[in-house]
Amino acid sequence: MNLSITPLKEWGLLNKDIFLSAGPCSAESEEQLFETARGLTNRGVSFMRAGIWKPRTHPGTFEGVGINGLKWLVQVRERFNLPIGIEVANPYHVEACLKNNVDVVWIGARTTPNPFAVQDIADALKGTEVPVFVKNPISPDLELWLGAIERLYNAGLRKIGVIHRGFSTSRKVLYRYAPNWKIPIELKRQLPNIPILCDPSHICGKPELIFSIAQEALDLLYDGLMIEVHVNPAKALSDSGQQITPEQFHSLIDRLTLKRELSSSKEFQARIKELRLEVDNIDEHLITLLGKRMEIVRKMGDLKRKNNISTLQPQRWKEIIASRLAAGTEQHLSDEFIFQLFQAIHEEAIQHQEADMKQGFKRK
Ligand code: PEP
Ligand code: MN
Repeated sequence: MNLSITPLKEWGLLNKDIFLSAGPCSAESEEQLFETARGLTNRGVSFMRAGIWKPRTHPGTFEGVGINGLKWLVQVRERFNLPIGIEVANPYHVEACLKNNVDVVWIGARTTPNPFAVQDIADALKGTEVPVFVKNPISPDLELWLGAIERLYNAGLRKIGVIHRGFSTSRKVLYRYAPNWKIPIELKRQLPNIPILCDPSHICGKPELIFSIAQEALDLLYDGLMIEVHVNPAKALSDSGQQITPEQFHSLIDRLTLKRELSSSKEFQARIKELRLEVDNIDEHLITLLGKRMEIVRKMGDLKRKNNISTLQPQRWKEIIASRLAAGTEQHLSDEFIFQLFQAIHEEAIQHQEADMKQGFKRK
């Protein structure tokens, strides 16, 4: 897709080395917002975030202070000269934000996957220049993420960015939401110009993991970060376990290292070229070996067919996974990686055997 998205530098918001959004998960009181804003001054924050309508997974939890919070945020902007950003989930939210000249809006992870809601938001924003960020859908579905971006684009919006906030998963992972980096990387491949922020707070779910995910995002050339900052995280009414104090935010930003894509150093260029050649060579071998493996798999398929034996051999598959995981561990390869790799290889093998089987039946 070739969308002509406005570069982040032209959005009219502060953007020194990295684009930074910081602020509480939820607006709770005027005082909480003022104290947080005070703690965020002089840090190059592009906009202060705070949710006033909170889409909670379960009912009966804090669902935001509503429209009152907007008044407080407008005062924060005036007093601290800090642009403000709010999550919107319907046209009523958008209208309230437009009326108060909110600087940035974002669509949350539970709204992005709903085409009706996104279309309503896009229609309500039509004709404005408000920057909009689209958080990834909570489930790992790239197409729904892309579809939401397209709806905003088709409504004439050009200041569109995305926020990677992690994905729900049924597998147990270290993080609250699995980072699943391959999805935002693929989104960037398809939409190279779209600004991308990482929200390590929601990915991690706990403060001590935030630095490494934030640094990883910068290593992957993300444009910036959205981080939940609260004056008193322990007392926060939502996402209390993952928010950090303004002081922790400052020290986190100080520790981050910015990366660039290219180097003009001749030495670097020569060495990286050598190493890339080695990798190209190994990849060629890998693919040749996979081709050979598949030839053998097809012979096995023939044998199974002649003996009326099932394509799927659950016991054998169990043994493959166990032995490959063990071999992977010896090579310092993660279980997750080996599991996904062999799942893909196994699926391809089954497809080959099934295709041959159908051909075989035709030949009969
Ligand atoms: C939030 O930003 O506080 C929030 C609710 O995020 P998400 O939509 O990513 O869950
Ligand atoms: Mn939150």
